[in-house]
Amino acid sequence: MRVRVVTPNDIIALCSLNHFNSCVPVIATLFLGAKVSCLDPMLSLNETVYLIKQIRPKMIFVGQESVVLIEGAIEEAKLQTEIVVFGLSTVHSEFADFFAPKENENFQPVELENNKETALILFSSGTTGMPKGICLSHYSLLGQSYNLIDVGYNMDCVLSYASLYWISTNLLLMACTMAGGCRLVLPRYNPVQYWKLLDHFRVTLTFMAPSQAIAMYNKGRPDGINTTRLSDIIIGGGPLAAEHVIRIRDIFPGTHIALIYGQTEAAGTSLCFSPNRREDILAMYKKPGSCGKPIPDFISKIVDPETEEDLGPNQCGELRIKTPFELNGYYNLDSSGVWDANGWLKTGDIAYFDEGGYFYIVDRIKEMLKFHSYHVAPAAIEGILLGHPSVAGAVVIGIPHVEDGDHPAAAIVLKNPKDKITPEEIMKFVEERVDDRQRLRGGIMIIPKLPITATGKIRRRDVKKLFLEK
Ligand code: AMP
Repeated sequence: MRVRVVTPNDIIALCSLNHFNSCVPVIATLFLGAKVSCLDPMLSLNETVYLIKQIRPKMIFVGQESVVLIEGAIEEAKLQTEIVVFGLSTVHSEFADFFAPKENENFQPVELENNKETALILFSSGTTGMPKGICLSHYSLLGQSYNLIDVGYNMDCVLSYASLYWISTNLLLMACTMAGGCRLVLPRYNPVQYWKLLDHFRVTLTFMAPSQAIAMYNKGRPDGINTTRLSDIIIGGGPLAAEHVIRIRDIFPGTHIALIYGQTEAAGTSLCFSPNRREDILAMYKKPGSCGKPIPDFISKIVDPETEEDLGPNQCGELRIKTPFELNGYYNLDSSGVWDANGWLKTGDIAYFDEGGYFYIVDRIKEMLKFHSYHVAPAAIEGILLGHPSVAGAVVIGIPHVEDGDHPAAAIVLKNPKDKITPEEIMKFVEERVDDRQRLRGGIMIIPKLPITATGKIRRRDVKKLFLEK
């Protein structure tokens, strides 16, 4: 068996699709009192280099599908990180080398001096700029995992396809383990297989992204499928209009289908319908477009982001949150923009609550876009556009798309207005440098100048309007 000394300041990373052992380095690192960070196996080399440079992990556990990506990223980032491969490798350490069931029998988790220490670092782009490492504590993870159990989700058998790059998957892993449930572990979403799994394993709870939920009803329900044990399907990570929620309910009779809202900075879910509360179950059916109410230990309010004035029922403004489970901050980066002057977490989402206190998410004012629930940081695409010799200014916004979430679109200003370059040529330049989710599916528009506020900020909403009008 191989042994490595891991200290509380070390970061152990994971980059892998889900499989039976992918959660082991995560749980092991938490038990050792060190920090774990999860990278998305679907990211491009450039993005992986950008993220891995921020966290500089001591070791990284890598699925076979990501070995080339991580080798390249470590080399380009000039790090000494040890690669451990799930499976066989002639070059790197293998996961099996660290596995010693006999010795593990006497293993005791480290006693933490302070459970507010950072345990998990996940990436998201916050309200502005490039992706940042969001530091979540042991306290937050435990609190939010218990919350999922306490609100009444049946953890007997949980199915979710998302990788451990996502806070939702980490919490479901922990909540399900703590509740003594069974977890189905699958690498990639497949709507045909999904029905069979629900039936065969008598799944009780499943989490899906909006695009996956839409794919379910597009495919339709096969005959002879038994979903009588399936208590809840929770849909989150991006918006889904009420009419789609209703259509999904049609193919899952007897199952509670509801939207759930959360974000990595708040350690996951902050709004949901609690299956434990009768009034919430009734409201879930009456208000299919709502994400529910704040879960325990969360307070939410709506604020006019221009005037900072608190707003009442049915008034749209920015959703602000207070919770003891919020992030410790961004890893090694300035985090001052996360909170308002009164210490409320700025979600960057536009929402309102009705007279019953149920919340509805209606828009996003932060820059972050999501394509099939995957993060797209406009700043990353803007950086690429600005690398083109003809481009003087660039703004990337999202055009809403029912199934995909956002389609990134760019408005650019040319250095020389007489330049004959076409949007198609710029598009080609971008396509050669981005991964699939960053492609400018919403198009490119050449405009004479960028709309700027009096304080020099780009008016992204005006740019979005230009595209929507077109
Ligand atoms: P992440 O950083 O990946 O945790 O993404 C959090 C963001 O996803 C939120 O701030 C929202 O913009 C979006 N989001 C999550 N759940 C919902 C939902 N139910 N409806 C609309 N947007 C959502």
